[in-house]
Amino acid sequence: MAKAKPKTLTTAAGIPVPDNQTSLTAGPRGPTLMQDHYLVEKLAHFNRERIPERVVHAKAAGAFGTFTVTADISRYTRAKIFSEVGKQTEVLGRFSTVAGEKGSADTVRDVRGFALKFYTEEGNWDMVGNNTPVFFIRDAIKFPDFIHTQKRDPQTNCKADTPQWDFWSQVPEALHQVTILFSDRGIPRGIPYMNGYGSHTYSFINARNERFWVKFHFKTQQGIQCMPAEEADRLAGCDPDYHTRQLFEAIERGEFPRWTFSVQVMPEKDAETYRWNPFDLTKVWPHADYPLIEVGVLEMNRNPSNYFAEIEQAAFSPGNVAPGISFSPCKMLQARILMYADAHRYRLGTNFERLPVNAPRGTQVQNPYQRDGSMRFDDNGGGGPNYEPNSFGGAQANPAYAEPPLKISGDADRYEQKRGVDDDYIQPGNLFRLMSRGEQGRLIKAIVGSLKNVPQPIQKKMVEHFTRADKAYGAGIAKALGLK
Ligand code: NDP
Repeated sequence: MAKAKPKTLTTAAGIPVPDNQTSLTAGPRGPTLMQDHYLVEKLAHFNRERIPERVVHAKAAGAFGTFTVTADISRYTRAKIFSEVGKQTEVLGRFSTVAGEKGSADTVRDVRGFALKFYTEEGNWDMVGNNTPVFFIRDAIKFPDFIHTQKRDPQTNCKADTPQWDFWSQVPEALHQVTILFSDRGIPRGIPYMNGYGSHTYSFINARNERFWVKFHFKTQQGIQCMPAEEADRLAGCDPDYHTRQLFEAIERGEFPRWTFSVQVMPEKDAETYRWNPFDLTKVWPHADYPLIEVGVLEMNRNPSNYFAEIEQAAFSPGNVAPGISFSPCKMLQARILMYADAHRYRLGTNFERLPVNAPRGTQVQNPYQRDGSMRFDDNGGGGPNYEPNSFGGAQANPAYAEPPLKISGDADRYEQKRGVDDDYIQPGNLFRLMSRGEQGRLIKAIVGSLKNVPQPIQKKMVEHFTRADKAYGAGIAKALGLK
């Protein structure tokens, strides 16, 4: 069979290229001519292939999928995505490690990002979660310091154990997440085998304009599976992209991973008296207090056709919530609403929401009053008015989408958001106590594997924290470290 004739290669401006193998020189042995603009264009573009990597969550796998509603929750939310049982919405998912660089190994002990973009008919809902229900800190003012402890030493450029334990020993609110991180779940067997959590408290608003506080849970239907540390260490060396490839190949084979999406719902008033501060990101809402309500199924079923275009350029912003879903006073969430979009403006440019993977899929027009800016590649709002109010039929805000007012009180101050002296120890202790003996042993071994490398005063401080969570927890760590 005759091969189809290849298309003519062109420059970026569409000019046919006569030779893509030999540059233009002055004579057979002479220097290259400046006139070879095609050579210059090729090398200059190559120099600019990289965009700034994300400062956290740089390494990731991603895929597209479908969200299907299985139960009616319209009594809690008017969000169109949940408007009827059986309704399907396209989703983009990005699943990342936190601390490592873009080329780092997948099987390290780390929290995993679990970021979802639901392309709803009323705009994109970005559920930018993790595979853990809590986080290390509850106040964003600590975030850059915490992340510095996870990154490279400013002098040696190597990772080190001391900074993270030094920090955690002085921030007891971290103990809950530290316990999860060093438990078996700290190294998932793969992306399909971990849960996702919205982690923060968000809100739902129903058609009667009533507010409920809500937490999001995506429970794996493949079952939780974790990887023994020895196997993870070996794979980090010989197959650093293990989780990325595993997800890609599973989807190519038609084995689509699925998660059951459930919510915990708290009536707005309960927040004032609930025994935990419901907006503290280092706490869960125990299931016995607020049981899971099943809502739907998430299935990842389509691989990206180009990684850079669809996953590296994907921009998830916790500020993107569709009507019927909204925020809470969680201090970490409040900061993320600002910071994620800010990071994307730096990384991708001011028009990042117009990139095809980030643009809404519905029929709505993206804000026509936002004009210009670098790399504006659509019609830039055309000839329509570029100001509002106007008398020429331009888009207008719609008060039907207004949320109920949020009641707040008190004096402006810097509050620590704790409810009691043992507040930060009870839930890590509960978690330790629900683990099997084997799991507790592996948790202690994993902690000591890292904590043994740090100065003794820091070890002692940590043992005090573990002991306050559970005596056996503290005793196990102290014994393994050889401390009295
Ligand atoms: P429950 O007995 O109702 O729930 C226990 C939950 O613990 C399970 O549903 C499971 O969450 C989770 N779990 C089990 N093993 C581990 C592990 N090794 N690492 C992390 N999570 C694990 O009790 P509570 O609701 O009172 O929670 C007790 C503790 O469980 C909490 O202090 C918290 O540390 C942890 N937890 C609680 C969650 C919640 O939303 N209430 C969610 C996740 C953890 P899952 O079903 O999501 O897999």
